[in-house]
This record gives sequence, structure tokens and C-alpha cells, in this order.
Amino acid sequence: MKEVHCDFCGRSKKETLMLIAGIDSYICDRCVHQAQDILKEESRTFEGRNVDFRILKPKDIHSYIDQYVIGQEMAKKVLCVAVYNHYKRLSQKKLNDDVEIEKSNIVMVGETGTGKTYLARILARILKVPFCIADATVFTEAGYVGEDVENILTRLLQAADYDVDAAQRGIVYIDEIDKIARKHDNPSITRDVSGEGVQQALLKMLEGTLVNVPPRGGRKHPDQKMIPINTDNILFICGGAFEGMDKIIARRLNTSTIGFKSSIIRQEYDMENILQYITSQDMKSFGLIPELVGRLPVITHLPPLDKTSLRQILTEPKNALIKQYKKLFRMEGVKLSFEEEVFDFIVDKAMSYKLGARGLRSICEAIMTDPMYELPSDTDQKEFLVTLDYSLEKINRSKFKNLQAA
Ligand code: ADP
Repeated sequence: MKEVHCDFCGRSKKETLMLIAGIDSYICDRCVHQAQDILKEESRTFEGRNVDFRILKPKDIHSYIDQYVIGQEMAKKVLCVAVYNHYKRLSQKKLNDDVEIEKSNIVMVGETGTGKTYLARILARILKVPFCIADATVFTEAGYVGEDVENILTRLLQAADYDVDAAQRGIVYIDEIDKIARKHDNPSITRDVSGEGVQQALLKMLEGTLVNVPPRGGRKHPDQKMIPINTDNILFICGGAFEGMDKIIARRLNTSTIGFKSSIIRQEYDMENILQYITSQDMKSFGLIPELVGRLPVITHLPPLDKTSLRQILTEPKNALIKQYKKLFRMEGVKLSFEEEVFDFIVDKAMSYKLGARGLRSICEAIMTDPMYELPSDTDQKEFLVTLDYSLEKINRSKFKNLQAA
């Protein structure tokens, strides 16, 4: 009988672990593995480089985000464009001309619970680039207790499965950027270890530099071999509540219209929602160093969520809270339903809790914890209706008891 061999590498059957037969040819185990590696490599280039941005236009990204995030149209638009341009920037090296597209790092300004982090998270799901979230408050200057700024890149590297190339074109969300602002009224004569020093370190990263990153993070493993990461092509999105910023903006608006009475300012501007007028100048007055502000050219504002938005958030998005509870109960074999009035009640409480959409979750938990505790042990119950009375009773026994409707 004719001896068979791999038609790709020519190895005889004896030289292989396994020979897989096709219609009139064979392939050995080694060639299958090699082909798999090639496929993996190719698809990575395909995802990260020049194809995705053509597939996902800003409007496509927007409509994906819309399935999860209610309102915040301005911020959505700004983010979609920034991300789309980020992709374009990544592929610009192929074009032979002198125009270089610069990085447009973004700042999202908005009160707590307006959806800043959530927007960033949802964005991460559709992006084919590594993404990580870091909290600026944990960082201190090198040498002080706390984390070094480089650890942000450790997270990105981990999100990229230690693929340095991929990490170098990733996106980083830095939360609470306002907390590292320089404090004008800092009475301490010691150094501002979590303020300006951290800003300087961040600045370098935002500008684009080669950073030696500890792959396992922290300072606990001093023996680990550092991995150099170039931050030129990493997009940074920052978020913060910037408490007190309203006064800074109001002062600027007042002085820029010298001679006018404040009542005129009031007529011209929506003072209830003054954060929408934020500019780079205000960020500097707040205490961010000018160089850092210069590296964050895109500023967008997320207004507080109103009653209607909170009501929508509760039931409409793909993974809306109420849908999540229904699923939890369904997994228990119980059909969960709510009286319509319950939703308005939850929203009213959340409005007075003043934690934006974050409040919704805590209030729902206060109502739902007892049934979630009881029902799994009660195999007879197949349906559960949450009434307004039931909700009132649960809330009255909770820490939300004294909240007045806004
Ligand atoms: P922050 O602005 O403080 O970063 P988050 O993004 O963490 O607020 O919001 C807290 C939670 O509230 C999110 O996990 C999400 O479930 C919900 N949420 C906030 N804003 C929205 C929104 N606009 N649409 C849908 N859900 C939202």
C-alpha cells in the first residue's frame, strides 16, 4: 500500500502524531497547529488595524451604546467620534503624507451616577482593542504609599493578555481625575503627593512616552522584569464629578460679561445646569495643571439624569435593573412582576437620594432582598407580584425611610 504523508510539510505518517485525511490529501497535527497560529495572528491584525473602523462608523457605535445607555446624547456623540478617530489614527501610518492625526484624549464631566463609567464600559464591549478602567484616587507619586501611575498600564497589559502590541493601541478610562487636582487651600507644608506629582506622571503618559511597566503590578514584586510600553497610541478617557466646578464657571461667566448684572447672566445661561459651559480654562482654575489640560482637548458634559431618564433606565435598556431581577427569579422558576406604580415610587426615592442612577440599584435592593432570600426555599411559589404597598413597607424598614420625594 502507498505510504501516506502530510501534503503540507511532506512528513510521513510515522513522523507525525496524527494525520488527518481530506478528500484526496492529508494534513498532520503540526501543520494544523501552525495554521491555527497563523489564523490567530491574522485575525488580530484584522481586528486591531485597518478594518474595524470601516465597519463601525460613529453612528454604528452610537446605536450599539443606545441599547444600554439612556440619554447623554452629547457625550455619546463625542465618544463615538473620538473612538472612531482613534482607529483612523492607528492606521494613518500607511498613508504617505505629512498630516499627522493627533490623539484626542477626552474628559467626561458629570455628577456621580450619570453614566460616565458605564458609558466607558459599554464602549469597551464593542471595541476590538484592549480596555481598562483605573481610579485616579489610588495613585500617588512614586515613592509614596499608594500605587504608581504605571500600574494603569499593567491593567491594560493584562486586558490585552500580555500582548504588548495590542496594549499599545488600547483605551484607558481614568475615573475621578478631579481628585488629583492641585489643592489651592492645602494648609499642609508637606508635598502634595497625590496631586500635582501624579498629574505630572499622568501627563507623560498622555503625551506619549516609553513606560516601564511591572507586568504583575504593584511594588510587591520588585524582582519582576519590566515590560516597556509605548503610550503614543493609547487613547485616554478621563471622568470626574468636579465638585465645586459650578462656582468656577459662574465666576468666569460673570467676569466675562463685565458691567452686566447677574440677572442677565441668569437669563442667558441655564444656571441649573451650569457644568455644560465648562471649558479648558475652568479645568485649570479647578487645579489641573495647564499641560495636562492641554493633553485633554475634548471635554464633554453629562447632565444629571431627570425623572424620565431614571424611569427608562429602570426598565428599558438591554440589561435594565428590572430585567435583571426578573431573570434572577426566572432562574428560580418564579415569574416576577411589578405594579406600574412601583417604578415611579423607586424613581422618586432615587431622585431624592441624589446619587443618579446609582440610587436606583440601592433602592431596588432594599425592596428585593427579602423576597430574594425567602423564595429559593419556597418551592411552591411560582409567581411573585411586587406591589406598591409591599415596596413602601420594605423601604420604611430601610435606611431610605426618611428620604423625601424631590
Ligand atoms: P458615574 O457617572 O458615577 O461613573 P456610573 O456610570 O458608574 O456613574 O453609573 C452607575 C450605574 O447606573 C451604572 O452601572 C448603570 O447601571 C446605571 N446608569 C448610569 N447612567 C446610566 C444611563 N445614562 N443609562 C443607563 N444606565 C445608567
